[in-house]
Amino acid sequence: MLTLLRNVDCFAPEPLGLRDVLITGDRIAALEAPGALNGAGLPIVEIDAGGRRGVPGFIDPLTHPAGGGGEGGFHNRTGELSAEAFIRAGITAPVGALGTDSITRSLDVLYGTVMGLRAAGLQALMYSGAYRVPAPTLTGDLTRDLVLIEPVIGVGEVAISDHRGSQPTIDELARLAADVALGGTLSGKGGTVFVHVGDGPGGLDPLEAVLNSSDLPAPLFLPTHVNRSRALLVQAAAFTRRGGFADITVSTTPELVAAGDIPALQALEDALADGADPRRLTFSTDAGGSLPRYVDGVLEGLTQATPDVFLPLLATAAQDSDARFAQVLAGMTCNSAEALGLARQGRLAPGMSADLVLLDDSLTAPTHVICRGRALFGDAVSAANTP
Ligand code: ZN
Repeated sequence: MLTLLRNVDCFAPEPLGLRDVLITGDRIAALEAPGALNGAGLPIVEIDAGGRRGVPGFIDPLTHPAGGGGEGGFHNRTGELSAEAFIRAGITAPVGALGTDSITRSLDVLYGTVMGLRAAGLQALMYSGAYRVPAPTLTGDLTRDLVLIEPVIGVGEVAISDHRGSQPTIDELARLAADVALGGTLSGKGGTVFVHVGDGPGGLDPLEAVLNSSDLPAPLFLPTHVNRSRALLVQAAAFTRRGGFADITVSTTPELVAAGDIPALQALEDALADGADPRRLTFSTDAGGSLPRYVDGVLEGLTQATPDVFLPLLATAAQDSDARFAQVLAGMTCNSAEALGLARQGRLAPGMSADLVLLDDSLTAPTHVICRGRALFGDAVSAANTP
């Protein structure tokens, strides 16, 4: 199958200017000046982007596609997310996780949900484990999960500095990370220890302690919610200078911001001002997770975080400059790919997976979403899927 996207204002994520993008099978074959590629005589699907922006499909390191919540009782459980919700948000590679509740939610169910997203065309992945340590697993062993279960790329979200976590010791965290490192080595996946950081005063101290007391490499670790407070963001900047990654949660609420949450764009600026390595900052949506809803300061319940928060963030960044747009985009694409060991994703370049989002003029919605060369959204869907 051949697809030619004409007149795309490409952000790879760095700005490339106007390009024609040729897709063969599930890969990007060429990015050339407009008009340089000629599909005449070939069975080719053409889409004219008309100069609109094209970006790599977003990689989201934290989603809860099988639902989340459950805090405060069973009535606060949130539901499953549809593939369409991710596609319309431009997310082609959601990574599914369990969180607080690994009792009434299981990895088996998460696996089924992730495979359902794959059947809908997405490059969905998952973590083994959950908040709790010892981590729940699919096969009875974390290393075996990474080696034997293809969509499993690590463990997460393992909770530290949070009253809802199991207060793992440094030795327990080190053992967990070592199991992931071995599974990542044997499977060639790299392995990721995705860490939920709560609002406890220790912040990232447990991860620093693991690195100080073991031979484990810092890039193995991707702590999230680092924009929970100013103090945690300062720690996160230092963590990236040490070689680790740090993930900024984009979903928030006015109440959480009032309580100290730093909105994503501000968090990026603050982290960079604190000397963070710009290649080691990622964004996630936490889609499917629960957000507390307050009325007059009283917890009234939980609402579900949604996947559609990356595009508005990009649109806001674009008002500043193309450079800021590209910088924010890197946190949703190539930086996440690096953190998660996804060598073929996160960039628009020949040989890379053909995961691409064309944006409308407002930059807040896609006109087309293509994943592994297949149009999942947009007016070429029927043409592209006709044999
Ligand atoms: Zn979390």
